[in-house]
Amino acid sequence: QTPTRYELADTALIQSIYKPRQPFSHKGTYGHVLLIAGSYGKLGAAVLSAQACLHAGVGLLTVYVPEAGYNIIQLAAPAAMCLVDDNPQQSVQFHEAVTADGAGKYKTIAIGPGLGTSGDTARAFKKLLQRYRSPMVIDADALNILAAEKQLLDLVPPHSLLTPHPKEFERLFGPSANDVERLEKLAAAARERQLYILLKGRYTAIAGPDGAVYFNATGNAGMATGGSGDVLTGILAGILAQGYAPKDAMVLGAWLHGLAGDLGAAASSQEALLASDMVQYIGKAYQEIA
Ligand code: AMP
Ligand code: MG
Repeated sequence: QTPTRYELADTALIQSIYKPRQPFSHKGTYGHVLLIAGSYGKLGAAVLSAQACLHAGVGLLTVYVPEAGYNIIQLAAPAAMCLVDDNPQQSVQFHEAVTADGAGKYKTIAIGPGLGTSGDTARAFKKLLQRYRSPMVIDADALNILAAEKQLLDLVPPHSLLTPHPKEFERLFGPSANDVERLEKLAAAARERQLYILLKGRYTAIAGPDGAVYFNATGNAGMATGGSGDVLTGILAGILAQGYAPKDAMVLGAWLHGLAGDLGAAASSQEALLASDMVQYIGKAYQEIA
């Protein structure tokens, strides 16, 4: 087995990944994302992910939320469509539109922000994993559901994107003695499970099945704030749906997310930076490569 190759995702790499929009394109060109997110009291995560996905450039977005989220999504993200779960509970259980063939019409499914880990939701996620075999973006509570029932990891479609922070990573793949060991664990998990895994931190590390690890250097400590990761999930789904390869989507997405945080912090301060500010600066971040 070849040793892990470590690389820095510098501006030159980002420039080489970025694909400008084509003049004669239409919304169908840029993919349709289904974002499954939110539960009672955590609908803000769904809103932040949805707004980030739209600003990342997705063609169409449908947000799947529990009933409590309908008005919230329609008002906070008017450019998105909203599908409401038929579970009377305040968490998602998924109806046929998601679990059966209906899912096939989406280019990318992203699941997790604010989702909650109720029994109903965990069962629904399992059903989704059993029926939907294309790569998806898996974050937050969807990762926690996988960690609570480890056999579910075997059901994750190959080439899916997982975006754990260090605690979520540890719940999924076990503890590490130090950062170096964690990085080797990251590379090994991505290789063995044929997954793309993004381990969040000051220098976010991105690993894929090919055994290379890329570090992202944009971002700042102002991003250590609630909702920051939900914004990243939206960006990644939005970029993936536009046709970028998974590794490219992760490298470009992490870079844009961090730069949006840097621009937002420069405009106010790291202390005052909110996840919603990161959303607002995605456009300015694109300007640096467009
Ligand atoms: P989450 O913990 O899921 O909300 O994700 C936090 C996001 O903010 C990740 O993308 C992290 O890389 C980023 N982040 C958090 N703290 C820092 C930091 N000190 N420096 C740079 N990025 C950070
Ligand atoms: Mg998170």
